[in-house]
Amino acid sequence: MDSVSLRLEDLPLRDDLRGMTPYGAPQAALPVALNVNENTHPIPKDVSDDIVDAIALALRDVNRYPDREFTQLREGFADYLGHGLTRDQIWAGNGSNEVLQHLLQAFAGPGRTVFGFAPTYSMYPLLTRGTGAHWIAGERGHDFTIDPDDAAAQVAAADPDVVFLCAPNNPTGTPLPLDVVDAVYAACHGIVIVDEAYQEFAPRDAPSALTLLPERERMVVSRTMSKAFAFAGARVGYLAADPAVIDALRLVRLPYHLSAITQAAASAALHHAATMLATVDDIIVQRDRISATLEALGYHPYESWTNFVLFAGVADPAGTWQALYDRGVLIRDVGLPGSLRVTAGTEAETTAFLDVLASLGSAS
Ligand code: PMP
Repeated sequence: MDSVSLRLEDLPLRDDLRGMTPYGAPQAALPVALNVNENTHPIPKDVSDDIVDAIALALRDVNRYPDREFTQLREGFADYLGHGLTRDQIWAGNGSNEVLQHLLQAFAGPGRTVFGFAPTYSMYPLLTRGTGAHWIAGERGHDFTIDPDDAAAQVAAADPDVVFLCAPNNPTGTPLPLDVVDAVYAACHGIVIVDEAYQEFAPRDAPSALTLLPERERMVVSRTMSKAFAFAGARVGYLAADPAVIDALRLVRLPYHLSAITQAAASAALHHAATMLATVDDIIVQRDRISATLEALGYHPYESWTNFVLFAGVADPAGTWQALYDRGVLIRDVGLPGSLRVTAGTEAETTAFLDVLASLGSAS
């Protein structure tokens, strides 16, 4: 019998999910892939050897469920983050996306609202709606910056249950000063999530929102191993918050959500944090080279404290994206008018991108 495939509209799907589109950055096997803000440097051989050994050890007990509390890994993250944090203030998941989802499952949900300053990370509205909550988009000022008083007024007016502050912001790269975080926290009753996925690419002397955690029990700082740590494929994200927030997350996580293999791999990688992070300085050099070259070509690159650059002044973003694609370079059209986003790759990848873009002619 021929199988008949239903259409999505024909399924008894939740009404609030109808019409939504899934996250879908193109995944194409192009020689130069600079579209999803990965760290394009492979991890060093001695580190991957240690990770393989740790996984081999974990496999001996893989007939048993893993440590549900991923104790060793939480200790590893507390040590890495510093700021006097202890493991009872740490949570982790399969990527920071899952950590953010846990937060929304615990603190958002039907009848609740989640606020973020648009444009920002595209998964925030999707994760919000996935829990049945309502997404509220706030506004940014000139060049995507946020003013503390304006931010506080917008958040106070919206009175959300959860606020996302992406610091620095994806897809724009914009730094977020801590006075904005502080003002937003003071202006609302909800959970304030500071997403520091790209913090390691900020200037060394730029303070993290971790410095604000003491005395602010509704504040959460999330991080990921996907970017600076070059560990995107392993799927490991984490956060720091008050121990009571961590207890709330235990209510919504699936039992044993972090596999023994993930825990072993991440703990082994954390032992080599300095080596894993060694490429950060190179990436920053390439990021700044991208900005300088784009400017020389007549584009308008926005200030970036991340491993990518958003640039405006693109007359035909879809056409430029396709022309780069046809020449083996994958970047990202994030849907902002006249703009494209490119991840800083290795020196060779960055050169390939800049050369192909220059060959297309100067900006309009
Ligand atoms: N936050 C931000 C701002 C991101 O850009 C990303 C990934 N692009 C994530 C969170 C999620 O990363 P991961 O799930 O790989 O940790």
